[in-house]
Amino acid sequence: MKILVINAGSSSLKYQLVEMSNESVIAKGLCERIGLDGRIVHQIGGEKIKYDVPFPSHQQAFEELVKLLTTGDKAVISDMSEIAAVGHRVVQGGDRFSDSALITEEMLSVLESITDLAPLHNPANIMAIRACMKVFSKGVPQVAVFDTSFHSSIPEKAFIYPIPYEMYEKHRIRRYGFHGTSHRYVSARVAELMGKPLSQLKVITCHLGNGSSVAAVDCGKSVDTTMGLTPLEGLGMGTRCGSIDPSIVTFLMDKEGLDTKGINDLMNKKSGYLGVSGLTNDMRDLEEAAEKGHARAALTLDILGYQLLKYIGGFAAAMGGVDAVVFTGGIGENSDIIRAKACEGLGFIGLTVDEKINNGLRSKEVDITTKDSKVKAWVVPTNEELVIARDTKEVAKLK
Ligand code: AMP
Repeated sequence: MKILVINAGSSSLKYQLVEMSNESVIAKGLCERIGLDGRIVHQIGGEKIKYDVPFPSHQQAFEELVKLLTTGDKAVISDMSEIAAVGHRVVQGGDRFSDSALITEEMLSVLESITDLAPLHNPANIMAIRACMKVFSKGVPQVAVFDTSFHSSIPEKAFIYPIPYEMYEKHRIRRYGFHGTSHRYVSARVAELMGKPLSQLKVITCHLGNGSSVAAVDCGKSVDTTMGLTPLEGLGMGTRCGSIDPSIVTFLMDKEGLDTKGINDLMNKKSGYLGVSGLTNDMRDLEEAAEKGHARAALTLDILGYQLLKYIGGFAAAMGGVDAVVFTGGIGENSDIIRAKACEGLGFIGLTVDEKINNGLRSKEVDITTKDSKVKAWVVPTNEELVIARDTKEVAKLK
């Protein structure tokens, strides 16, 4: 049985066709520049093929994708009917959807009513779902898997902000948390790797990529996370500022003459690593620049390491202990420097990184701590698509 996994942005569409009998990836790729000109980078096994195909809309991108999968010498299936279901990543499910669910018209209207909770992501997700439903026949179940669902177990004391309570009642302002599929996957996977039941473990998962968040996972349930109402809170990220004194917002609007769009741009697109370093949002380039003596690149790395240390320490306290810290995402999986900085001060909770193991380690499932380290730290490459495919199979009740 095959499941198509879709992760759509406003001008791009990532896809993965998964064979569920052995959970292998048949083909994957990216349709990008939707609405501009259009390009598909398609990958089958190790082979990458680029196609320039104009698609003015998501619907045309889906049509091209289906053509690519079913026709020509690179076809991987003979007919669309081989696709048993489609699973969509949806960033914000609000507090209405605490689990993955079958997509219905009613769900889409609920999602439309909460787009202001994720204005950068949900409209694109909804548009892509509608486009996909037009291309696939009605008989093919479409399932939504929410980034927020995994965090629906966070207790009230961690999700209510100390602002007037009516703001929560009126506008649903609360911590939702994001990257849920990734935190869920790596926390479950590290339990398997450690040979212990997840129900007995306290895990802190650090998803570090262009967007980054840390989660406290107690006995398999998320009990706190760094992202909040939107994916802007928490760690400083590639171009996002993360948590700052809220007064900075009105102060800067005043001093720099910024309107809401201006301040939103500053916080979402001009801050984080890019803002501090003045160079780039790309961690690889920052590490290289820091190595060559660029002081603000080095400062950017120090800030991230320090913030991670604080969140890990804080979440360990929140859970009354921690058994394992997990690093994932482009930075978490690949940056030995950031992992080392994050763990440098954690000796007091019994976590010691083995430099020989950590140095140069990229994208492999490995325990990076010394043998006698009481608290373990692991690198676990994430696999959000697999979580989406598994949930889709379950929700669509496919055998
Ligand atoms: P993601 O959003 O998960 O794709 O992560 C993107 C981030 O991972 C970017 O900042 C990349 O620079 C960073 N990254 C990817 N590979 C490496 C690497 N080998 N070393 C350091 N950072 C990396």
